[in-house]
Amino acid sequence: LFAKRAEFMLGVVALKHLPPADRVEVSFAGRSNVGKSSLLNALVGQNGLARTSNTPGRTQEVNFFEIGAKDEDGLYLSDLPGYGYAKVSRSLVKEWTKLLKSYLRGRPNLRRAFVLVDSRHGIKDSDREIMTMMDECAVSYQIVLTKMDKIKKAEQEKVVAKTQADVRKNVAAHPEVLLTSSTKGDGIAELRATIADMVYG
Ligand code: GDP
Repeated sequence: LFAKRAEFMLGVVALKHLPPADRVEVSFAGRSNVGKSSLLNALVGQNGLARTSNTPGRTQEVNFFEIGAKDEDGLYLSDLPGYGYAKVSRSLVKEWTKLLKSYLRGRPNLRRAFVLVDSRHGIKDSDREIMTMMDECAVSYQIVLTKMDKIKKAEQEKVVAKTQADVRKNVAAHPEVLLTSSTKGDGIAELRATIADMVYG
């Protein structure tokens, strides 16, 4: 799926600009600097597809990427703006929450959202807010731990166990936590397979 084609499609600031819901869609969310752009680039095997280290809080767009075929055999991947950045104005947060909520509520082809969490920091309050929103919108989501290369092997198990325990009470959360490192390439094939299963499975 990912080897075939991956292209930036459009950035949307309003729901009326969403592409038609004619194929499986997965979404990526996470705090600014969690490593979302790096993970997306690793996933599609193209550097520079998703821009790394965007100025936090500036882009309030949902970016859409078209993966594989241009029909129901293909995939839409949406990249949600990074959150949790302290310097963003209240009005911008409000605007973004509104856009996000309506997107999550009204997207029938959205199969799963991946919520990226920095393995060094674990789940933060701002992640909880997003997860609660997804629970309320009945969007199933899965935690993806990023930057696993930054923590020691002995620590990794603890982080995974804690994260798993943390999400257990959230109804829409997938029980399995994915472990990734974009720099080392760990977990990327698993993530690709998880997504490909939704399209072909
Ligand atoms: P975004 O703001 O969530 O899109 O995060 P970026 O992808 O721009 O990454 C933020 C910073 O973390 C950059 O300096 C990346 O080089 C670094 N980074 C991202 N992924 C990894 C990873 O898997 N391992 C390590 N060690 N650093 C990473």
